[in-house]
Amino acid sequence: MFNIIIFGPPGAGKGTQAQKISESYDLMHLSTGALLRKEVANQTKIGIEVQAVMANGDLVSNNIVDEIIKNEINKNGQVAGFIFDGYPRTIQQAKQLDKLFTAENIPLVLNLEVSDEELINRLKLRSQESGRADDNDVTIANRLQVYTKQTQPLLNFYANKNRLISIDGQGSIEEIFKRLQKQIKNRQ
Ligand code: AMP
Repeated sequence: MFNIIIFGPPGAGKGTQAQKISESYDLMHLSTGALLRKEVANQTKIGIEVQAVMANGDLVSNNIVDEIIKNEINKNGQVAGFIFDGYPRTIQQAKQLDKLFTAENIPLVLNLEVSDEELINRLKLRSQESGRADDNDVTIANRLQVYTKQTQPLLNFYANKNRLISIDGQGSIEEIFKRLQKQIKNRQ
């Protein structure tokens, strides 16, 4: 089993690259954002509980996302591996995820580095197309702050475990994908 975490701030291109990696390496793409949006669309118990938090750009509670991820992994034990997109976002989530893997298949972390200016431009552009409730000016600013405060500390957590690879996340989708492929080939 080969597992990857695609890491980076909102707008870094995690979803786009995760999709491409998923297709090329036959890994199951698990996006907590997409899974949560489905819960909201279906107005499930979880969906009703999380919709206001998501619309503000704040983080949903660890226990909810940890449970969703655990269920997805247990349901899909036969796959070649997973690519996690938008998860983990806190130290608690990272510790929880590590518990689900053995040392040999513990996920590699590929971090997409993009300047703040470029992130804001990309998110604003996306807001015109995505129809996502959380792609508006106020929420974009909050999501970037939430990333800095709650998610960025994970970079040290993974660097200390020698699992972090940072990649230039600026350029064309294909250029960035090639950089990611190079790193994946080195580690596979
Ligand atoms: P994303 O599509 O990854 O940008 O996620 C959209 C929203 O879903 C985030 O702004 C959070 O409100 C929520 N969310 C997604 N993943 C997580 C997570 N791992 N932990 C907490 N909240 C999350």
